[in-house]
Amino acid sequence: MSDPAEKRDPAAAKGEPRMRVRYSYLPQQFADIDDLWAELKAFVATGDFTLGMPLTEFEGRFAELIGTRHAIGVNSGTDAIKLGLKAVGVSPGDEVITAANTFVATVGAINEVGARPVFVDVDDTFCMDVGLVEAAITERTCAIVPVHFTGYMTDMRKLVPIAERHGLPLVEDACQSILGAIEDRNAGTWGRAGAFSLHPLKNLNVWSDGGLIVTDDNALADHLRLLRNHGLSDRDTVSLLGYNSRLDTLQAVVGNWLIPQTRAIAEARIANAAYFDRHLGALPQIRIPPRPADMRIVYHLYIVFAEDRDALLAHCVDRGIEAKVHYPVPIYRQPGLAHLGYKEGDFPVTDGHTHDIVTFPVDQHLSREQQDYVIETVRNFYAGR
Ligand SMILES: *Cc1c(COP(=O)(O)O)cnc(C)c1O
Repeated sequence: MSDPAEKRDPAAAKGEPRMRVRYSYLPQQFADIDDLWAELKAFVATGDFTLGMPLTEFEGRFAELIGTRHAIGVNSGTDAIKLGLKAVGVSPGDEVITAANTFVATVGAINEVGARPVFVDVDDTFCMDVGLVEAAITERTCAIVPVHFTGYMTDMRKLVPIAERHGLPLVEDACQSILGAIEDRNAGTWGRAGAFSLHPLKNLNVWSDGGLIVTDDNALADHLRLLRNHGLSDRDTVSLLGYNSRLDTLQAVVGNWLIPQTRAIAEARIANAAYFDRHLGALPQIRIPPRPADMRIVYHLYIVFAEDRDALLAHCVDRGIEAKVHYPVPIYRQPGLAHLGYKEGDFPVTDGHTHDIVTFPVDQHLSREQQDYVIETVRNFYAGR
């Protein structure tokens, strides 16, 4: 196959890509952190490791950032969902409705409280098609977990009234959508509770696992604080049986260092996505997903629909671009969920996406040169067909 880039660039012809566009930016993100090391050193000297002061400070700053009354640090995004479901009263045997294409953690959390995940197909925003939710509700349904997947938001304006009509609590999986919003109202603030992840590859990240659950409900917040710390209301009183799911105070020090950058991180991703949209969207073989004007999409993942996706993906990977597919096999068809009885074809939009979605790096450390290289590589691929 003739590739104009290879003609101009002898290095590419020899199989050595002209540029690398890596997926993980972590070495760059934490390259220059002398001030953070100083803070960590001062913190370690206090020995305040468990539910310490920096955690309380971080929780306050996170709640303020998102616009909720409470934020409770827990040890992962998965636990944020799990504790949220537990706190709204989900128990073994219940059904919990969620999206057919999500990261396994959403479904793992539902499973951990003994409930049965019930899937609903997504639309071209990669989030639950809320028009399909009512048909999935049964007398066993006890909660709905909308997943604000890839940095989009589920259409909460439509989902909240449906949930209210059926008396079902909403626990938002906002792990990929920190500062995602509809009409400026943030992901995580529409339901009874919202779950966030601080996993190293999330938009706001720490150096280990971590998560937060947010809520405006004072009683729910008290319950969540008990659940994450063995149900201990004080040193000598176990008020209920909970979990060991505290957010590490050491990681809260990292979180406090990063949190002032969260808005800028979202803005950088939004700007990178707009640049890709403009240039990739000019190619007839690429379709850009809907970009509703009243939605702030924070692009945890940047996904487009591409003709000849498998060949394009191979072409990009060969040229040093770490493009990916989220996901080649959606969660509902994974072998570990076979007992639920779903089969290929149950969720046609999710299934359709597996054939034509491709994810490109979009993070805040991506350079314009790297973006231009991605655009040129995709353009050359289709020109060479
Ligand atoms: C990351 C993520 C989670 C939680 O993951 P943790 O690794 O447990 O923090 C949950 N749901 C989605 C959609 C995620 O992307």
